[in-house]
Amino acid sequence: MRKKIVAGNWKMNLDYNEGLSLFSEVINMVKDEITGNQQAVVCSPYIHLHSLAQLAKGYTKVSVGAQNAHQAESGAYTGEISAKMIKSVGAEYVILGHSERRQYFGEDNALLAKKTDTALKNGLKPIFCIGETLQEREANQHLDIIKSQLVEGVFHLDEAQFVQLVIAYEPVWAIGTGVTASSGQAQEIHAFIRKEIAAKYGQAVAENTTILYGGSCNPKNAPELFACADIDGGLIGGASLKSRDFVDIVK
Ligand code: PGA
Repeated sequence: MRKKIVAGNWKMNLDYNEGLSLFSEVINMVKDEITGNQQAVVCSPYIHLHSLAQLAKGYTKVSVGAQNAHQAESGAYTGEISAKMIKSVGAEYVILGHSERRQYFGEDNALLAKKTDTALKNGLKPIFCIGETLQEREANQHLDIIKSQLVEGVFHLDEAQFVQLVIAYEPVWAIGTGVTASSGQAQEIHAFIRKEIAAKYGQAVAENTTILYGGSCNPKNAPELFACADIDGGLIGGASLKSRDFVDIVK
């Protein structure tokens, strides 16, 4: 049974104290709600990570993650943070390939393939984001774009590596816009992603891969989205900044 995950992506929000109090609230509200193969993850700015990981200790169903990591193991990269550093403070996950990283920081599939390798080598589980822009969807290129993001970003991995990944489908036009993909649109893409994974790694790996939906997900639309056969949870931006909304989505 594949894992069901709701992951918050705080982006560049919340100072240190705000982050700690939000996370404490979230833990208290979800700790008795998450069972079996379910997991809640909070991906915070780097400087919160160590303290959040300490707070999450003892709650096996609540994990923390970073929102990015450098592709190099270490070295003269002023201002950057390595996968090893992230792992060493107790984080378990790392978001890679978020559309904001692709758009504002020029991260392309080749770079993201390297980042994925380095994250895996250091024991982090990548939440690997893919998704098309509005123009690409309107030009009917969305399936090609998603396929090339998979092929160039993660399909170089061997099976033992690939099974460590979580995939997140985030249509760029739905991120932070209040426009959600309909459950039909999202399910269609999730089924396509699973089919591509099956073609590359076999049916069993595809069935065990967690594929999250992200993009204006909120407590109102989450139940319908998460009820779809191939949607295994969500990557939550704006709604992860309010404990009540995030917890309602988890529930
Ligand atoms: P949103 O962001 O929920 O605010 O649309 C999702 C994301 O960027 O991961």
